[in-house]
Amino acid sequence: MSRLVMKFGGTSVANIERIRNVARHVKRETDAGHDVAVVVSAMSGKTDELVGWVREAAPLYDASEYDAIVASGELVTAGLLAIVLKDMGLKARSWQGWQIPLHTDDAHGAARIVGVDGSKIIARFADREIAVVAGFQGLHAASGRVTTLGRGGSDTSAVALAAAINADRCDIYTDVDGVYTTDPRVVPRARRLERVAFEEMLEMASLGAKVLQVRSVEVAMVHKVKLIVRSSFDDPADPKLGTLICDEEDIVESQVVTGIAFSKDEAQITLRRVADKPGVAAAIFMPLAEANINVDMIIQVVSDDTTTTDITFTVPAAEYARAKAILEERRGQINYALLQGAQDVVKVSAIGIGMRSHSGVAARAFKALAEKGVNIRAITTSEIKFSVLIDAAYTELAVRTLHSLYGLDAAI
Ligand code: ADP
Ligand code: ASP
Ligand code: MG
Repeated sequence: MSRLVMKFGGTSVANIERIRNVARHVKRETDAGHDVAVVVSAMSGKTDELVGWVREAAPLYDASEYDAIVASGELVTAGLLAIVLKDMGLKARSWQGWQIPLHTDDAHGAARIVGVDGSKIIARFADREIAVVAGFQGLHAASGRVTTLGRGGSDTSAVALAAAINADRCDIYTDVDGVYTTDPRVVPRARRLERVAFEEMLEMASLGAKVLQVRSVEVAMVHKVKLIVRSSFDDPADPKLGTLICDEEDIVESQVVTGIAFSKDEAQITLRRVADKPGVAAAIFMPLAEANINVDMIIQVVSDDTTTTDITFTVPAAEYARAKAILEERRGQINYALLQGAQDVVKVSAIGIGMRSHSGVAARAFKALAEKGVNIRAITTSEIKFSVLIDAAYTELAVRTLHSLYGLDAAI
């Protein structure tokens, strides 16, 4: 019998009526003869509320207690869905992360899955029992403590479980009916994509498209899980196809740019008039690396006085204060005249495997943005994407401009 993993996100389980609708989707698949494991998120807003309580309790909280608390949202929805399924006459039980067990490392708050034991769930398929799994959580075996997989982590729970039980497919049900050329809530003319290559999805997710957690795409790519994004709001009796995340070879019509993503999770730091001599870049970036601060875009330009240089780079918004403090502490060693920072910036990126074989793709964007009066603060490019850092106020304008420029707008 074929096996399926079905994952439902927060909006899809936001109240009991929606959980009943989820149960109808699950019933359709079991009635069709599939063995089903369902992975659920917490009700929408629940995890934010729990995180808020933790922060209110103490500014420097214990990370393992944070996990114990924020993992609780998923326990509720798993139990509720199991109850509703049973009420519909189906066999079902809920599973908490530690009961499976889904093993992780001990990086509380952003733990990585190290192994999933699918055997107990598979054994119960023989009895046609549906597994309802609490997403987002795992167990660190050595300490015996609950861990969580980072925000949006239920996607990764689902894909890892699909790999562990050798599922034929992993369907990610959410509040949009697939992966779009950009966030459809920002650009109404965004188009749903039939297929997206793993590499593109990986870039889109890491550059801000939160429809899938980055790690879920990595796990699907490595374990060759057939991954589909589709809507939980479809009629359970008549579901639509959604978007297939697949190998590059399986993309039929490929465009130069497949999608536009944006991320507000950026902050910019500029060090003015740094001595222009060997070793300076190391003096700046080594301490940041040692503090586990991820530096992304870096640009260096000669200062007005030509004997010194200005260095601009970006760090995650959440690390801005820490990065600034480290650099201020080392002002004497690095020897810069001024540290300037900006937090109201956004990184807008265009992604497409077609960029490998086309030149001038980014140059067209620079021109189009300039014509709209959007100032570019920093640029990075790699094989299948480029990113520009701009003022946050211009986010929508920039995303829409690039979306039209690369022919992604839906016909009206
Ligand atoms: P869930 O709670 O189901 O996990 P998320 O809120 O995490 O759902 O992800 C779905 C949201 O991702 C959509 O509502 C949409 O606004 C956003 N999104 C961002 N970029 C894209 C994109 N390229 N395609 C589809 N959705 C996107
Ligand atoms: N509930 C968790 C979150 O809000 C995990 C998830 O939804 O995937 O981040
Ligand atoms: Mg999500």
